[in-house]
Amino acid sequence: MSDCELCLTSTLPILWQNNRFRVILVNNQNIRGYLRLELIEHVKEIHHLTPAIQSEMYKIMNIIENIVTDVYNPDKINLASLGNKTPHIHWHIIPRFTNDNFFPQSIWSEPVRQNKFENSIDEIDQLKQQLHLKLNH
Ligand SMILES: [Zn+2]
Repeated sequence: MSDCELCLTSTLPILWQNNRFRVILVNNQNIRGYLRLELIEHVKEIHHLTPAIQSEMYKIMNIIENIVTDVYNPDKINLASLGNKTPHIHWHIIPRFTNDNFFPQSIWSEPVRQNKFENSIDEIDQLKQQLHLKLNH
């Protein structure tokens, strides 16, 4: 769809992709290691996908959670699929830390701290390497 943000070329770094899905680094100074798994095709609801594609999606989600755990060792991982503003299937994979700016509320709530975080070059390299290693076969 021409007016859909996720159908346009991503302005955020693509860490990995195949012909159906891509993993994006959501550069955000509030949250380290915030990734988004996006379906490349414009589909609105998960139940519109075939069981095989759903299965592939959940398998990738699981691998991403393991990688994020390895790289960032978060206190919790939040998964969110909303799509009210952008009705194109995507998942937010959000490592959470007890000292992040929103904990224990969702990252879309009012901040309760004012820390700044950066993903290091080394962390981004690790994410890319692990995604390629575990998802390309
Ligand atoms: Zn779209």
